[in-house]
Amino acid sequence: MLAGLAAGAGAALAGPAVLAQAAPRVVVIGGGFAGASFARAVKRQDPQLAVALIEPSARYTACPLSNSVIAGLRGMSAQHFGYAGIEAEGITHVPQRAVRVEAEQRRVVLADDVALGYDRLVVAPGVDMRFDALPGYDAAAAEQMPHAWKAGEQTLLLRRQLEAMGDGGLVVLSVPANPFRCPPGPYERASLIAHYLKAQKPRSKLLILDAKDAFSKQRLFEAGWAALYPGMIEWVGLSFGGTVTEVDAATRTLRTEFGEHRAAVANVIPPQRAGAIADIAGVADRTGWCPIDPATFESRLVPGVHVIGDAAIGGAMPKSAFTANAQAKACASAVIALLRGGVPDAPKLINTCYSLLAPDYGISIAGVYSPQNGLLAEVEGAGGTSPLDAPPVVRAEEAALGEAWFGTITEEAFG
Ligand code: FAD
Repeated sequence: MLAGLAAGAGAALAGPAVLAQAAPRVVVIGGGFAGASFARAVKRQDPQLAVALIEPSARYTACPLSNSVIAGLRGMSAQHFGYAGIEAEGITHVPQRAVRVEAEQRRVVLADDVALGYDRLVVAPGVDMRFDALPGYDAAAAEQMPHAWKAGEQTLLLRRQLEAMGDGGLVVLSVPANPFRCPPGPYERASLIAHYLKAQKPRSKLLILDAKDAFSKQRLFEAGWAALYPGMIEWVGLSFGGTVTEVDAATRTLRTEFGEHRAAVANVIPPQRAGAIADIAGVADRTGWCPIDPATFESRLVPGVHVIGDAAIGGAMPKSAFTANAQAKACASAVIALLRGGVPDAPKLINTCYSLLAPDYGISIAGVYSPQNGLLAEVEGAGGTSPLDAPPVVRAEEAALGEAWFGTITEEAFG
């Protein structure tokens, strides 16, 4: 790729033809909601920049609405997005994995040993499952007890297991402590699995074992479960023994301090951390996440490198695709200001998360965030949730809004 971006010193200079230009070089690792949105935003704001998006996959598989795939309400192909639209705007998609960042030389080394030089680097690798955090749960166990927390094969595996389960089976869903990708996601998943069970296997039950005592949109979810799926979903929080301490994949058993549960289908969502390249690049701290300056998203650990999306410690901002997209646009403005020697403006960022409890029953939570005391803090009184006592027509409207939001954000990132 990129003669303008390729940097020598031992690394091979190979690959497709290149933009040979002396313009500032911006390299992005990860073509998800954060990285793809950033690449687009920065190139649109300054078309002279040489922008490279490093992403090994030829197509992206989106997590939002993947719970509907698990419930049989949506086809997997609706989750797939390519990079042709991005390339059409003059951004180079580099179909490789980044394996190393040499920050002092300002270059990224790829799996094929090509090195790309940068003036500013953006790291947006999303999350990795921590296969060392829950005894018994490793990559092999995930083939028996899928997490389905990265959309793709895992999503389809969980779907197949639910289809194969007999009526009257117990589905167990285990949820980690904060922070993790998509705080309302497990409860949306529980709702939509219950929707499937109610229609197809009505004697079945769903147990949520949770390492927390409270969760996002809890009152709205619980009211919806009582109305839509009475007696079907049981939630057990931290204080009542919800934390899963060990699993046995062979028997699909989940152990807690209070006992053990043998599942017909077990969906284990383990603790997470920033994607591995963040650690390799030195931008992740001991928590496994990446501390950033909340105005510029520049790493607090490695200058010249910015971190956005799920990998970043976003303060009060939840890890969502909406957040990733909002951070990407703010980071693009900051990077351009810094490349021009200016001072970036402090951003105001919005996040809205829609959740489906049934195909025509949606709820949402919104928040506004700004830099305060070195973190992204929620602006008091600026957010809120759906009303607790809304009539069905409002729930149906929110379900439609969630679907429309997905269309808008995927068009903006990949369209
Ligand atoms: P990702 O989307 O994971 O993208 C990271 C990319 O980086 C990947 O394409 C990966 O291949 C690439 N990468 C990793 N390492 C490297 C490397 N070394 N070199 C090159 N590339 C690399 N959010 C919402 O806003 N609304 C929702 O309704 C919603 N629903 C969800 C439902 C579920 C079930 C789940 C699991 C998540 C949901 N989310 C939702 C959350 C959302 O999917 C994530 O917050 C979002 O994907 C984060 O974007 P990202 O770009 O940081 O990470």
